[in-house]
Amino acid sequence: MNHQTSETFDQNAREALTDSQLRNALRNLTNTFGERRKVAITTVDDWEGLRERARAIKDETLAHLDKYLEEFANNAERAGAKVHWAHDAVAACGIVLQLLREREATRVVKSKSMATEEIHLNAALEAADLSPVETDLGEWIIQLADETPSHIVVPAIHKSKRQIAELFAEKVGIEPTDDVALLTSTARRVLRQRFMEADAGISGVNFGVAETGTFLILENEGNARLTTSLPKMHIAVMGIEKIIPRLTDLDVFLKLLPRSGTGQRLTAYQSLITGTKRSVDDEGPEEVHIVLMDNGRSSMLSHPVTRQSLACIRCGACLNACPVYQQIGGHAYGSVYPGPIGAVITPQLSGIGKSAQLPYASSLCGACREVCPVKIDIPALLLHLRAEIVEGTASGTADERGPVKKKFSEHLAFRLYAFAWSRPKLYEWGARIARLMQRTVMRKGRIGKAGGFVSRIAPPLGAWTSARDLRAVAPRSFREQWRDELSKKK
Ligand code: SF4
Repeated sequence: MNHQTSETFDQNAREALTDSQLRNALRNLTNTFGERRKVAITTVDDWEGLRERARAIKDETLAHLDKYLEEFANNAERAGAKVHWAHDAVAACGIVLQLLREREATRVVKSKSMATEEIHLNAALEAADLSPVETDLGEWIIQLADETPSHIVVPAIHKSKRQIAELFAEKVGIEPTDDVALLTSTARRVLRQRFMEADAGISGVNFGVAETGTFLILENEGNARLTTSLPKMHIAVMGIEKIIPRLTDLDVFLKLLPRSGTGQRLTAYQSLITGTKRSVDDEGPEEVHIVLMDNGRSSMLSHPVTRQSLACIRCGACLNACPVYQQIGGHAYGSVYPGPIGAVITPQLSGIGKSAQLPYASSLCGACREVCPVKIDIPALLLHLRAEIVEGTASGTADERGPVKKKFSEHLAFRLYAFAWSRPKLYEWGARIARLMQRTVMRKGRIGKAGGFVSRIAPPLGAWTSARDLRAVAPRSFREQWRDELSKKK
């Protein structure tokens, strides 16, 4: 089991960088999905227009979230579902547990759901002597390995074929084999049996439609459809931000999500669920429960910058594009939500003090913003959270935030920097002194790693040059060159 937490992100990242098997897997994943996405987005006429439309729908929904949630709940109940409201993770797990206990449901199947990962539902059910079985192949693999997902869309991407073969030999009892067809048919055989026996199925939700009370689940393996249709009871756990106003809005998101996530035009299965089955002869569950979960989301609504975090449709494209995720993978983030989107929502969900390193896990290159189908400005969010950390103004109670330590030396350095750089004469003198001093450490025109050991600066600035170069101060500043030009013209 990986026990990494976001509090130790720096150390986790350093360890991940030494794992060559992980880095090979990440290279394959991010290259493949990145290339597929590039091709897939050329198959729609106006990709940028679609992104704008999606963002407008999300903004409209978030501006009136209370109204749309109520509309969704009323329409879902009219169709026969029962809606439950959960303020936090404990409440959400408690509702699911109570429903299972009331029906004496002991055999539970689950389809892939980031919301249930977020609230650690499996651990809560296991603590109550229930053994939920994950039925998405990747989720089942990491459940057998007692691990957490390392990617939003492909949770077991960090595992090699050999590791999976060894895991199946140990946990399922088959002969070790690297035959992928045999491994998948083994999973199918074992999981089909679990579906047949299940008393209840638990799923997540991709989108909930306010106008009809319908919810949509996208998947490629058919396991979500079996989870939501074979057992007598279906429980869907849904973050409150998954609401969209109208059924026609799905057209926009169905074009964006699969193309951004896996580079597919459409996932293999799209299950639209509206209430329970209508008659005894119909297929489908007799009971459908929807757990609408807040768990920190409404506090993100309060600020226009953080609110955009709730527009995320969990496609995973920003992970694949991120140069940090590409090197270290998901576990280093110590959260079920890794990558750029994880670096912004984990501190908001679990308290900024417990994950204060995550907003710094970015080069601010903007690759995440470029690929995001709903145009979330993740770099702006990261800067907003960094400012909250530095100023100690993170939202929530002190307990929720955890200890946010201001670094005195950093604070002082930036104040001095601002003081000097806002005074032209001081700035010029500073640049001249830096030009003189850099001669002692500059090698081959560089300061830092490429110039060799002697060109690294002493601590604390040396933290920068131990891993990369520092740009040398130019021999003549712009002002000096400008003055020279002016004097030539006179
Ligand atoms: S932030 Fe954007 S790119 Fe990243 S998972 Fe969410 S929707 Fe996808």
